[in-house]
Amino acid sequence: MKRFELERAITGNELVLHFQPIVEVPSRSVRGVEALVRWKHPERGIVSPMEFIPEVEATGLIRKLTLWVLREALLHASVWRRDGVPTAVGVNLSAVDLRDAGFQRFLDNTLKVAGGPEHLVAEVPARGLAADPPVGMLELMRSKGVRVAIDDAGEGDGHVIENLPADIVKVGRALVSRLAKDHRVAAFATALVAAAHERGFRVTAVGVEDAVTWERVAAIGFDTAQGFLIAPPMPPAELAEWRATRA
Ligand code: C2E
Ligand code: MG
Repeated sequence: MKRFELERAITGNELVLHFQPIVEVPSRSVRGVEALVRWKHPERGIVSPMEFIPEVEATGLIRKLTLWVLREALLHASVWRRDGVPTAVGVNLSAVDLRDAGFQRFLDNTLKVAGGPEHLVAEVPARGLAADPPVGMLELMRSKGVRVAIDDAGEGDGHVIENLPADIVKVGRALVSRLAKDHRVAAFATALVAAAHERGFRVTAVGVEDAVTWERVAAIGFDTAQGFLIAPPMPPAELAEWRATRA
């Protein structure tokens, strides 16, 4: 992928957001959604963020991408509020954003236009936080009413939740997909959830694909979950339909 292509994607309307429901365990009532970016490439079709986010970070375009995603996600959130279905939306930030001095100003400006900081969850990658955690930035976001989620936590990230100002811990698919298969993984998750609850965090299981894992997630005491068992990430119109059929 060339820089000009990535730049064109961001500025030229080739990005789209899909939204994946996050539901309460065990009731399955919707608690929010996560915004997940896709690239509608003119020749290649839909390109996964796993493929292009690392390059966007490496080329220094991540700031532009984050700004686009944040604005778009907050505009959707304001539409949902207007339509009487207020919905919290999680936006994935990059570790680069959290060290960007201009980021806070941008967030302020976007919130001024779109409103609703209480409906925004800033998802920050656990692995980008370990060495030199951007505590000031996380505290600032929380002081504005934005919730902070430590994203994609896994084995080895226990210490991250000890020290960070946050509201939510999202346990990643690498761990969740092994919950029902590996007792050691289940024991680790149980300890992690207990430690997170002790700190007052809510805990989300990401990547619940089957009923056995759902049962395990419920037994361990996760607060919320997302995964293909409930629903995949969907374009906004499909999300609305999905919600309507469940109501
Ligand atoms: P993430 O934040 O951990 O998002 C969850 C990923 O797990 C999503 O992949 C979602 O589609 C996938 N997933 C959820 N449930 C299941 C399941 O039951 N089974 C399987 N196999 N997968 C499931 P996706 O959309 O491909 O995104 C991958 C990663 O790309 C995200 O991981 C996030 O780190 C990054 N990403 C996505 N959108 C953005 C963005 O707007 N900005 C940044 N900086 N990163 C993003
Ligand atoms: Mg995420």
